[in-house]
Amino acid sequence: MKLYISADMEGTAAVASWTQVDPKNTTEYPYYRKLMSLEVRAAIDGARDAGATATLVNDSHSAMRNVLWDDLPDDARMIYGNRKPFSMTEGVDATFAAAFFTGYHGGIGDANATLAHTYSPDTLYNVRVNGIACSETLLNAAVLGTHGVPVVLVTGDRATCEGARVYLPWITTAITKEAIGYFAVDSISPAEARRRIRAGATSAIEDLARAKPFVFEPPIALELDFVKVEQADFAELIPGVDRIGGRTVRYVHDDYRVVFRTFLAAMRLGAAANAPV
Ligand SMILES: [Zn+2]
Repeated sequence: MKLYISADMEGTAAVASWTQVDPKNTTEYPYYRKLMSLEVRAAIDGARDAGATATLVNDSHSAMRNVLWDDLPDDARMIYGNRKPFSMTEGVDATFAAAFFTGYHGGIGDANATLAHTYSPDTLYNVRVNGIACSETLLNAAVLGTHGVPVVLVTGDRATCEGARVYLPWITTAITKEAIGYFAVDSISPAEARRRIRAGATSAIEDLARAKPFVFEPPIALELDFVKVEQADFAELIPGVDRIGGRTVRYVHDDYRVVFRTFLAAMRLGAAANAPV
């Protein structure tokens, strides 16, 4: 039984600030990187307790070079580095029986969600698919859904876990902390978080039969509200992308993988507008 893990960092127990998850930070980041890695390990160990036999970890935070190899089992594989055509969902295919999202965070605009954002906090103000405001959990779950792979475990703060359950009602969650606004947390200890993640991972695999791949029904309409008008100026250059407002673009396609790659392209083009003119 093959398991896919998309590993983000902001939802790691105790994390409360951007400096703790910034690879350029030389004081706080190394410590929190270790905590992230150990949470991934706890998820793998829990899945193995329930029969998972092989794990692919996709490092999914920032430059996507965070998880420490020494904290993974010797037979784990890991996708490392950026940029990848499918980003936080790179490497998934129909051979995986289930997926975990570890260290995840709330979607942009969520209340009481530590470091909440959707992909690019400096570029994207809202992301909607078929009218649904999307977190990374939902956007990424839908990519896995095109391969028939269900997401069965999410770990992160309470808002992340409760947000996931709205559209993925079968999901098992491991809550690592309570957010106190955007930059403060009331956290359980990292060791206790790992115990809960390991137990959650075991339950999630044991309950696999009730899980479903998450899919958006076609035609699939993507709408992006950018933070700045000039970001939408760039995004609308993509063929097929319509400018429907000062800050807003829209794209419609029946294949969600095409929609997702258009989302990444629009975001990266939009981010390019941040450079000084
Ligand atoms: Zn991240």
